[in-house]
Amino acid sequence: MSENQEKHTCPSGKSCEGCSGKCHDDTRAVHENLLGVKHIYLVLSGKGGVGKSTVSTNLAVSLSLQGKQVGLLDVDFHGPSIPKMLGLEGSQLYGEGEKLLPVPYDNLKVMSIGFTLPEMDRAVIWRGAMKHGIIKQLLADVLWGDLDALVIDTPPGTGDEPLSVCQLLPNADGAILVTTPQQVSATDVSKSLNFLSQLHFPVKGIIENMSGFVCPHCGEVTQIFSSGAGEELAEKYGVPFLGRLPIDPQICAGGDAGEPFVQRYASSATAKAFEAIVEKL
Ligand code: ADP
Repeated sequence: MSENQEKHTCPSGKSCEGCSGKCHDDTRAVHENLLGVKHIYLVLSGKGGVGKSTVSTNLAVSLSLQGKQVGLLDVDFHGPSIPKMLGLEGSQLYGEGEKLLPVPYDNLKVMSIGFTLPEMDRAVIWRGAMKHGIIKQLLADVLWGDLDALVIDTPPGTGDEPLSVCQLLPNADGAILVTTPQQVSATDVSKSLNFLSQLHFPVKGIIENMSGFVCPHCGEVTQIFSSGAGEELAEKYGVPFLGRLPIDPQICAGGDAGEPFVQRYASSATAKAFEAIVEKL
């Protein structure tokens, strides 16, 4: 075995043979920077547009409103919507020593790939290795400090970026998967579940978003799409089903206004449904 092919052990205690050790150096740097973080949750989905960023943002804000110290990291290169959802577009990034400071939203610490782009509508055209480097920097070179929880909005699918995030965070608490009720979304989430299983990455559970429509006038719920794909998936893969969120115009309004619905419409039935999901975590 050559010198750079010796057996390496990363902070998770997992070891592998045949690699140069670079991935372990990155994982170690991330591990050291996140020593003050008690819980790490990755929010994943099989495809875009199913409400992953909405869940990430509202989860982080909900925990923060409970008085917890929370960080929210958006590494969704192709749709970094968290600055918009928190009204933080155009925020300036500052440094302290060699580290970047997260942007504050009340008590919440926020970092997004969107803050690093010159314009929010600028497309990111980077190859996988560059994206890995940026993800590593956002985890290892941002001054996250002491946190009760770090919520990470991860790019959809099973490509390079979710792979980088999972490999850099072998000690994370687990992934929260978001699906819509339709089979097309559930099929993609089952790919994500297989991907996580191959990486031996824990799963915290599945959320079924856009599950029925709440009439803004009478509050009645109408099933627009079929229902139940999230729960069926959870049963099939033996992972927890965390709950359903309806299609609710207030969710969209909160996201567009830069004030998440758990804060803006805190007493609504949908905010209560979301809090029940957060309780399960
Ligand atoms: P993703 O991160 O999966 O691409 P987003 O969270 O950005 O998806 O959601 C896409 C759009 O759908 C946003 O405008 C968001 O406000 C809206 N949205 C998400 N979930 C709901 C819901 N349950 N009811 C109404 N609008 C929703």
